[in-house]
Amino acid sequence: MAKSTGPLNPKTTSYEFSGIPGVLGVTFGLPLVCVVLNQMIRRDYFIVGAFSNFDVAELWNHIKPLKWYLTNRELWTYYLAWFGGLALFDVVLPGRTMEGVELRDGTKLPYKINGLALTSTLLATLCIRWQLTNGEMPELQYLYNNQTDLCIIVIIFSFIMSLFLYGASFIPLANKNGHGTRERVLSVSGNSKNIVYDWFIGRELNPRLGPLDLKMFCELRPGLLLWFLINVACLHHYYLQTGKVNNAILFVTLAEGFYIFDGVLNEEGVLTMMDITTDGFGYMLAFGDLALVPFTYTLQARYLTVSPINLSRPYLAFLVATMSLGYYIFHSANKQKSDFRHGKLPHLKSIDTKRGTKLLCDGWWGMSQHMNYFGDWLISLSWCLATGFQTPLTYYYSLYFATLLIHRQKRDEHLCKIKYGDDWQRYESKVPYKIVPYVY
Ligand code: NDP
Repeated sequence: MAKSTGPLNPKTTSYEFSGIPGVLGVTFGLPLVCVVLNQMIRRDYFIVGAFSNFDVAELWNHIKPLKWYLTNRELWTYYLAWFGGLALFDVVLPGRTMEGVELRDGTKLPYKINGLALTSTLLATLCIRWQLTNGEMPELQYLYNNQTDLCIIVIIFSFIMSLFLYGASFIPLANKNGHGTRERVLSVSGNSKNIVYDWFIGRELNPRLGPLDLKMFCELRPGLLLWFLINVACLHHYYLQTGKVNNAILFVTLAEGFYIFDGVLNEEGVLTMMDITTDGFGYMLAFGDLALVPFTYTLQARYLTVSPINLSRPYLAFLVATMSLGYYIFHSANKQKSDFRHGKLPHLKSIDTKRGTKLLCDGWWGMSQHMNYFGDWLISLSWCLATGFQTPLTYYYSLYFATLLIHRQKRDEHLCKIKYGDDWQRYESKVPYKIVPYVY
């Protein structure tokens, strides 16, 4: 068995998520939220004033016993074909290779960057299927009609996959001579020796299956693209039912599609993010990437298929303006930090640190410690606003995303305090606001 503590893999001594109670709460609570939201959005309970119709028994009637899900060949075939097909495309489609950040063992892993080829293949497949089926697209109808069941299948899949990931993290890697003696690089936060905690946070930093980096793949492919596909399935369903589209669902599908493909096409940006450089790959990321993203970020589109809205032109213009402002802040703040770190923008004020890197405290990074998060959140708000004010359910995304970003800011602050020590305090005295200037 591979050595798991030592200079390469220090033991994790502090717990996030308030330790095991928090971990268990998230493990069972969030899937429940996912399933309940999926069920509620399909009924008319969510309309303000109609909560008196709320019938928990009716809500759960649709949910079958666990055995039914575990043995349902049709649902598993659809999902495994999606997951496996994307994995195959990821491996075989051409792209350039980039190196990730340096790992604690001094190596840098290669990553294949082929988002453009993959996106083109997916969109071309959709167009061909549209032609071949005369616009019927039975796969999209299946997706629309079986969302809650598929959601449960994906939750089970994430659970099983993370068990395998945890087990595999104990198997030593093969050396060049073929003997398995090389230590795996573990996550600094997922090596506590508590089975439940390490399984949840993720023990191994960058698990790979042959040439496929599983964490990067799950972060950018099956979940994000399923989010897009579910939105398209909603738009398609509405079109089949009515022969037209409402401008709110069109806005949501196009705007979210733009955001999704922006992420997939700028995939190299993920290589320096906390998810890839620090977090292990366990249940937390597997469930978040594969189940939570596609099955809860699509609530707006699903709501608009059952409660269509036609937005007035001024309101639509307001939504486009909000989203554009969010994009501008999000992109220019990220670019400013990246340019600065690459030696450009030397005129901006910064703090020299003992660690050798400089902390920018000018431009966007002088307004708050994470203006990029604020921009990202504004984008999410514009999509929720497209659903009007009939229900709080469609604002779930903005609320959840705000919670995620605040939690992420706190985790980053904790890591930066360790990385930078006193220098981080000096930085905080110059830039006191965390995300929103003068508010938080
Ligand atoms: P940041 O881009 O804010 O990066 C934080 C890191 O940057 C710190 O750990 C530190 O690392 C460095 N840093 C912090 N402050 C400064 C400074 N003043 N000057 C120079 N370097 C600094 O956070 P993330 O990586 O979390 O997020 C990246 C993007 O991804 C964001 O725009 C975010 O909105 C988006 N995102 C989207 C999500 C989604 O679900 N849609 C989820 C999470 C993030 P070091 O010093 O070691 O380089």
